[in-house]
This record gives sequence, structure tokens and C-alpha cells, in this order.
Amino acid sequence: MLKGKTAIITGSGRGIGKAIALKLASYGANIVINDIPQSDYADDTCEEIKALGVDSIVIKGDVRNKDDVDALIKGTLDKFGKIDIFVNNAGITRDGLMIRMSEEDWDLVLDINLKGAFNCIKAVARPMMKQRSGVIVNIASIVGVMGNPGQANYVASKAGLIGLTKTTAKELSSRGIRCNAVAPGFIRSAMTDVLADDVKQKYLDAIPLAKFGETEQIADVVAFLASDMSSYVTGQVINVDGGLVM
Ligand code: NAP
Repeated sequence: MLKGKTAIITGSGRGIGKAIALKLASYGANIVINDIPQSDYADDTCEEIKALGVDSIVIKGDVRNKDDVDALIKGTLDKFGKIDIFVNNAGITRDGLMIRMSEEDWDLVLDINLKGAFNCIKAVARPMMKQRSGVIVNIASIVGVMGNPGQANYVASKAGLIGLTKTTAKELSSRGIRCNAVAPGFIRSAMTDVLADDVKQKYLDAIPLAKFGETEQIADVVAFLASDMSSYVTGQVINVDGGLVM
């Protein structure tokens, strides 16, 4: 389905990003792993991907840093000659009630989750426009659709990412570039493992499918959006949340 395509996934050393990288590789795409410069996981993930029979490299860098993002795009083009798929997955949380939230925690989350995606889209748009083809998938969150107490910074970043997705789709569709978002619900990963048991139970009670999601279930939807199976889909947000929001 993706044989010979080149895919970059930000923050893909572990978690949902890693699952997306493995899934796209399993469909034949060559993979560029990006993660923070001090990542302990990126090299091992790269080896796992190569074992699937595709090519893979690691280009570390912070999505907040424009020079790092430019190096990610250049390094990919030097190695593979083109970029077919770009997944904005890197993201963090710094939770707390709004009245107690520090300006630093607000800025950090917006900088990584939203400005990081803007930096990446801006940088990858140029080669994709030249190719007159490309697919961008942004990993948002269901809380960006419904709001969530204790996550003002994170919710604002993900709601912003949804707006950025729709604008990107409108600005770039005439150049053959599609852009969609996936909004995961409660997915088992390092990000959610740290939540208190009562918070987890509250979510579980509200999920019609009555279980938490797995990273592979997000990766399946990303693979659909990255492939020609979704060639008439752009500017959409697909909730992958067990029915939490409908
Ligand atoms: P995760 O396990 O913490 O993975 C996030 C990845 O992003 C890590 O590899 C992290 O690196 C990397 N990263 C952090 N800051 C970065 C930066 N500035 N530049 C480049 N990479 C950076 O979290 P996850 O659960 O897989 O989340 C992945 C995405 O899904 C995020 O955008 C998140 O908001 C979204 N999401 C997750 C859930 C969920 O339930 N888990 C729900 C909705 C949305 P290090 O860890 O090595 O620092």
C-alpha cells in the first residue's frame, strides 16, 4: 500500500509515534524517525523498522527549533530524494488547573504541540508543493474537540492543531497535498500511564467500547489517511476514541 514511499514521523522513538512508524513500514514505506536530541529510544526503533525490510534513518531534533526542522527535511531529501508522508506526532502535556497554570507550562505545551507542527508543515510544504503531491497527518486529541478541565494548555494546542489542519488542507489542496488530523481518545502510552486511577476509571465509564485504545489502533487510521485509500479525504478530523465523542 505504501511501497517506496518516504514517511517522516516526529516524536517517533516511542509511544503512538513508534506504532505509526512500524505500521507505515509494515506497508512498505521507508521511515525517518525524529525525536528529541536526547532520546533513548530512537535508535532501537530504527533497528526494529529495518528488520521489517524497509530503509530507516534517525534524524534527531526538537520540533520547536526551526533549524532542527530544516535539517530534518534536508536530511530526508538527501537520503530518499522525496517526502510523501509527514506525521506531526510529537507532543507533551503539562497538566494543571488554569488558575494555577504557570506561563512557562502554557508556553512549553503550545510551543511543542502547535508551533512545532507549524514549523514542520511550513518546512515540508515546499518540497511537497514541488512534487505536487504529499500527505500530512496531524495527531490532535479528542480533548481538542471537547475541552478538558486541567488541560487548558494542551486543549488549546490541540484545538489549534485542528484549525491548522483545516487551513493547511485549504491552502495546499490545489498542489495535490492532503492534510487531515487524527484525534485519539484515551490511548495506553507513557503519556497516560501516569494518570491517577480515578481519572482513568472516569474515562473508562464514559467510553462506549468500554476499554482504552492501543497505539496500533491510532496507527491503523494514520495508515489509511497516509495512503491512496483516502485520496478524496482532506481537512478532516477522525476521532479514534472508542466512541467517547459522537
Ligand atoms: P509519548 O509516549 O510521550 O510520546 C511523545 C513523543 O514525542 C516522545 O517520543 C517524545 O520524546 C517526543 N517529543 C516530545 N517533545 C518533542 C520535541 N520537542 N521534538 C520532537 N519530539 C518530541 O506520548 P504519546 O502518548 O505517544 O503521544 C503522541 C501524540 O499523541 C502526542 O501528540 C499526544 O498529544 C497525542 N495523544 C496521545 C493520547 C494518549 O492517550 N496517549 C491521546 C490523545 C493524543 P521523549 O519522550 O523521548 O521525550
